[in-house]
Amino acid sequence: MHIENEVKYDFSDVLIKPKRSYYTSRKEVDLERDFKFKWSNLSWKGVPIVAANMDTVGTIGSAEVLSKHKVLTCLHKFHTADELLKISSGIKKNVAITIGVAEGLQTLYDLGEQIKDFNFICIDVANGYTEQFCDFIKLARSEFENKIIIAGNVCTPEMTEQLILSGADIVKVGIGGGSACITRNVAGVGIPQLSAVIECSDAAHGIGGMVMSDGGCTCSGDISKAFGANADFVMLGGLFAGHDENSETITENKISGEKTVEFYGMASSTALEKYYSDNKRKDYKASEGKLVSIPYKGTLENTLLDLLGGVRSTCTYIGAKKIKDISKCTTFVCVNHQINNIYT
Ligand code: 5GP
Repeated sequence: MHIENEVKYDFSDVLIKPKRSYYTSRKEVDLERDFKFKWSNLSWKGVPIVAANMDTVGTIGSAEVLSKHKVLTCLHKFHTADELLKISSGIKKNVAITIGVAEGLQTLYDLGEQIKDFNFICIDVANGYTEQFCDFIKLARSEFENKIIIAGNVCTPEMTEQLILSGADIVKVGIGGGSACITRNVAGVGIPQLSAVIECSDAAHGIGGMVMSDGGCTCSGDISKAFGANADFVMLGGLFAGHDENSETITENKISGEKTVEFYGMASSTALEKYYSDNKRKDYKASEGKLVSIPYKGTLENTLLDLLGGVRSTCTYIGAKKIKDISKCTTFVCVNHQINNIYT
């Protein structure tokens, strides 16, 4: 047994210190970034905010809206090849096809020649620490040499490096911080998200890879903090859920008139029962997600514009002209710890 005494930080433990800035208007801020990747020789230009591959978030309807603003969608993994092929061509460049290790590469093979229209593959497992996962990334890289591969989740620098060396261009970082996640209660496992991103991005950038901060953003300020911590991409679940484009059922309270939507983790019993009807996993697998009721929020575009406005605002407070400059201009001030510490 070993205890690490160094304090680890979550988004709520810090604020970003304002700095002298030349930018007076949010309009002057450029939220798009040009990306080149370690393994794939494709490039991508867009706003590096990403809809999570949850069936209440990463739908084709969400992608249609987000793609207009050059925001990426990791589609949930239950889309069939036929459904993926029907996506209009402009949007295909701004979505990732998600697969898991258990299902293998079949969906990708089923797309045949047409896979050329898609840029991104997202390989998503709850626990990215297994050897089998690394082998699967190696296989995906050898079969789809040119695709931009996103893989995760992990939350430590050594494993971030390992996934990149196995063939991932972008590593999804985050265990236990999701709004519909109960891993920290069920398994007692996780790392506070801000520190995880700082440490994993440092490791990834050292070998030419990138990270996607995944989970724990509750407002636009958290998105800016993730970029401040040096995330290349920031993935959102709950913030993008509850909209017309990704809600199956909207419930209205007859007395208060309040409208709500069901939002659940992809490892919750709700999702397991929906997609694995025989639910063989039940015998040995504890649910690591929960079902919550969240407010219905209307159109996704309005929420997106609010969130982007928030990130633009951060940039004007700290003197960052581009999203890529946020980390260089960030000094975090600790607010929730007794230690009077500044994390630059
Ligand atoms: P949010 O933005 O809602 O805080 O977090 C979204 C992230 O939570 C997802 O991208 C995914 O990594 C994680 N997540 C989604 N469903 C589950 C689940 O059932 N269990 C756990 N442990 N994490 C989940």
